[in-house]
Amino acid sequence: MPKPVLLAVDDEPAVLSAVERDLRARYAKDYRILGADSGEVALETIRQLVGRGESLALLLVDQRMPRMSGIEFLTSALPLTAGVGKVLLTAYADTDAAIRAINQVGLNHYLMKPWDPPEEKLYPVLDDLLDEWRREVRLPFDGIRVVGALWSPDSHTIKDFLARHQIPYLWMDVDHDEQARQLAPRSQTGTLSVPTVLFPDGTSLVTPSTADLAQKMGLQRQAARDYYDVAIIGAGPAGLAAAVYGSSEGLRCVVIERQAPGGQAGRSPKIENYLGFPAGISGGDLTQRAVAQARRFGTEILAAQEAIAVEARDPYRVVRLKDGNEVIAGTVLLACGATFRVLKMPGAAELTGRGVYYGSAHTEATYYRGRPVFVMGGANSAAQGALYLAQYASTVTVLVRGPRPTAASYLVEAMEHDERIQLRGNTELQEVRGTEGVESIVIRDSLSGAEAVLPGAALFVFIGVRPESEFVAGLVLRDEKGYVLTGPDLLRDGKPPAGWTLPRDPVMLESSQPGVFAAGDVRFGTSHRVSSATGEGAAAVAIIRQYLRTL
Ligand SMILES: Cc1cc2nc3c(=O)[nH]c(=O)nc-3n(C[C@H](O)[C@H](O)[C@H](O)COP(=O)(O)OP(=O)(O)OC[C@H]3O[C@@H](n4cnc5c(N)ncnc54)[C@H](O)[C@@H]3O)c2cc1C
Repeated sequence: MPKPVLLAVDDEPAVLSAVERDLRARYAKDYRILGADSGEVALETIRQLVGRGESLALLLVDQRMPRMSGIEFLTSALPLTAGVGKVLLTAYADTDAAIRAINQVGLNHYLMKPWDPPEEKLYPVLDDLLDEWRREVRLPFDGIRVVGALWSPDSHTIKDFLARHQIPYLWMDVDHDEQARQLAPRSQTGTLSVPTVLFPDGTSLVTPSTADLAQKMGLQRQAARDYYDVAIIGAGPAGLAAAVYGSSEGLRCVVIERQAPGGQAGRSPKIENYLGFPAGISGGDLTQRAVAQARRFGTEILAAQEAIAVEARDPYRVVRLKDGNEVIAGTVLLACGATFRVLKMPGAAELTGRGVYYGSAHTEATYYRGRPVFVMGGANSAAQGALYLAQYASTVTVLVRGPRPTAASYLVEAMEHDERIQLRGNTELQEVRGTEGVESIVIRDSLSGAEAVLPGAALFVFIGVRPESEFVAGLVLRDEKGYVLTGPDLLRDGKPPAGWTLPRDPVMLESSQPGVFAAGDVRFGTSHRVSSATGEGAAAVAIIRQYLRTL
């Protein structure tokens, strides 16, 4: 198989050869470097690559070309370049155009010319983009293979777990691949056992749990210490931020995560409003960086471990785990976030994981290439999901309960400009139909009362979330929806709640149980944003340090 291609496009021969030279110096070992001296030549090159089934990893394009500007070229190339890294070489005066191109053509970066020294100004940007491309793309493979089926919810769980741990795998669908059918063992009744996970060492796991998989892959599942300064429940943005700040300041931190790091943010194809990433950053990328940072400072992250209760055994706070073990700490940070509410209409439960997915646009999009899909919801997460799915699906119908989506205006505009996306306001979902997978949905127009059946292959659900706090219901005070009350929100008539034992009031982020704190989406009053979650996670560390001094 030929190496993936990096394509430089520039009409000035001297600049083109300088770009090619710098690309070759660093990437020639793993990539083929090609150059094109105009947008037209580059388009033809891409068509040929696609025709031969070769992979294009990156486009590095000059904005200033006389017949076809860089952005015009990227716009024309868009249908052939989903998922390809796109970098524009600009002069200072092109900055506005480059920023607009971030939305128009999915530009990942723009770089000012000249880019000397490349070690500082070019390679760090391209290294990041190529790392991300490698994580997303399916290259010929000698790693883990997952033999499964789109109609199997367990196959979906395994794919999601691997993807969110950034573990590359090859998906083999028993419905479309004879080799996959041969590889899947048969049960006594003759049915294929899916998912089956095959490892490079020749071993396999048949219908494994995520805990089995974590064990087999050497992910840490048990705490290494007898005592921690803080046990953080949840490895979403709030938990990971607390881990980074806590462990970098010398606290002994352990993070307990029941699924995979990243939380809800890990499901976001592109977070566009996080400070410092003008072209957005995928939730997976942000998670990978945060996990690496937390581990570097010494945080332990326990994978596929669910906290089922927290107990106060003074002076300790003890987290009880589903596998029967306990983690003992001086403090606990509840960073367990929120999960999507589940649909209650006919067909939804039966087809979950077999065409009905909660927020998993990122993991599943490629399997619905060229087929019509639905997105349910109108907030930011739904809009991001729809825009991501539109790169693969033939059409994306967005079902919104109100007249218009409530997502940020830049997302609504992007959906309106995408010809594959259709917005349907005042729409209620009545039923999901299908046997092995989703075949159609029944919707009702809430103004006219008219019902319609729409054919489609998958439904991605992004409706309201509920806090993950049931397991601490008896320990801390919560509001009627289950959000954990903290700090001033606990005071009634200026007094702390009944049972509060300390001579001071609960401080910011502290729950009604001293030594148990909450940050992020699980907390009453938070703003359900990645930046609020990371901010609260970081702030919790300072408060926890003060508390630990009093023990
Ligand atoms: C698809 C999508 C797109 C989004 N896009 C954006 C965006 O662009 N910008 C933005 O600002 N916000 C966005 N959000 C919102 C943002 O992701 C959340 O506000 C943020 O992730 C909250 O972080 P958190 O750490 O508080 O909780 P979460 O991200 O919910 O993480 C909580 C973690 O705790 C784990 N957990 C829960 N209970 C337990 C338990 N008992 N034991 C062990 N582990 C447990 C969960 O598995 C999860 O990993 C998006 C959300 C979604 C779903």
